Amino acid sequence: MAGDPPRPAPDPRRGIPPVDTVLRDPEVVDHVARLGRQRALGVAQEVLGLARHGALPPAAVVDEVAARLGDLDAPRGTRPVLNATGVVVHTNLGRAPLGEAATAALVAAAGYADVELDLTTGRRGRRGGSVVDALLRAVPEAEDALVVNNGAAALLLAMTALAAGREVLVSRGELVEIGDGFRLPDLVGSSGARLLEVGTTNRTHRADYERALADRAPAGGAGQDRGPGARPDVAAVLKVHPGNYRVTGFTSAVPVAELAPVARGAGLPLVVDTGSGLLEPDPALPDEPDARSALRDGAGLVVASADKLLGGPQAGLVLGDAVLVERLRRHPMARALRVDKLTLAALGATLRDPASAPVSVARRAPADELLARAEALRATLARRGLAAEVVPHDGRVGGGGAPGVPLPGWALALPEGLAGPLRLGDPAVLARVHDGRCLLDPRCVPPAQDAVLAGAVLAAAGRAGDVTSGVPPTGGRPAR
Ligand SMILES: *Cc1c(COP(=O)(O)O)cnc(C)c1O
Repeated sequence: MAGDPPRPAPDPRRGIPPVDTVLRDPEVVDHVARLGRQRALGVAQEVLGLARHGALPPAAVVDEVAARLGDLDAPRGTRPVLNATGVVVHTNLGRAPLGEAATAALVAAAGYADVELDLTTGRRGRRGGSVVDALLRAVPEAEDALVVNNGAAALLLAMTALAAGREVLVSRGELVEIGDGFRLPDLVGSSGARLLEVGTTNRTHRADYERALADRAPAGGAGQDRGPGARPDVAAVLKVHPGNYRVTGFTSAVPVAELAPVARGAGLPLVVDTGSGLLEPDPALPDEPDARSALRDGAGLVVASADKLLGGPQAGLVLGDAVLVERLRRHPMARALRVDKLTLAALGATLRDPASAPVSVARRAPADELLARAEALRATLARRGLAAEVVPHDGRVGGGGAPGVPLPGWALALPEGLAGPLRLGDPAVLARVHDGRCLLDPRCVPPAQDAVLAGAVLAAAGRAGDVTSGVPPTGGRPAR
């Protein structure tokens, strides 16, 4: 043989393994089990992107993926995330972040605590009594209050205790899906109460409620003979604030002040689900209902979430008439829905100063402060050679609250390819990907963490390499 014929230069991308092969490699597979496929997939795709750009020999892909996965901590249950989306109550990020006071209260309650003990007498005390007192101070219109596991639990308990086996009157326009497929009608249905719908999707009038009530069986006479065509046995009137969407155009709903006399005239409790947990009116959110106004307008009970606009831990609030609250408290289901001492501690601290809760602070952050922070971040990144642009950006309340209310502010715009590496960093950073850009809105990032955010961006840019130079990470080829 006189030597091999000359071969064409090999395509450096030829030997790149498909992503599934990488994830099944014995070197990698344990990490996938530990970190979860989704996280491992993101890392593998990042490394494959480097190989496709010739920044890594194909033969080194598996080692590199294994090394990077090995560097990532095993999930510690939950990992802290810097929320750079501008969405204040971010459901996928655990809704309201707790402030310093609430966090300190939570830590203080971690050991033994006077949850059901009166330290002055040494006798058994009312569980969570100081939190109920704080709620009644914040909402003087309420005679009594109860704290349960979340807003859905508060509604479920109210419907079970007041209307199981009977009918609840509700407007058709208020039968909402809360999120993640949970629908209010199903929730109420699981209490054993039956919904009696009135009105239409876009319009419900006072006369609709009145007609339905005039139609019902006389008090006490129903329940025995419930054959087809039996007249409904209405036990309560329910009003729900559909917080996560807005019906616009030709619409009409009956406000609490108008519905309350109708319910009262029929001798029925009016339960108002305000959802968002505002305790008093907020001029910045004119369409959000609040507990004080609803009770003043005649609601018998208000139920709400504690971890939306109130900015507390996950909990459900029940506020209102003492007899009704006591019926809920005495129901056997109340025990199954009660909150733990950590929730009570964090909620008590939040109620002491709701304006300082991170949700309130982020919601009210002045646009010029956000601009200054975005500018400072841009300058820090520019000094390290990473170019970014400061752009106007509206934050949002989120969490099924105040849809359509923009929170004007500013964001830093970076290449879209940074969003993935930012999510996988430590701390993880969640950006908003919009219009082909990765937007970092400082609104929900505690100002003390601005330097950490800058560091996370630089680290992500370093790991992303040329992914950030505008070249799509797949190099124009499918991932396998
Ligand atoms: C959010 C919401 C709920 C559910 O509250 P959780 O705290 O998520 O259980 C119920 N009703 C309304 C109107 C809501 O907005």
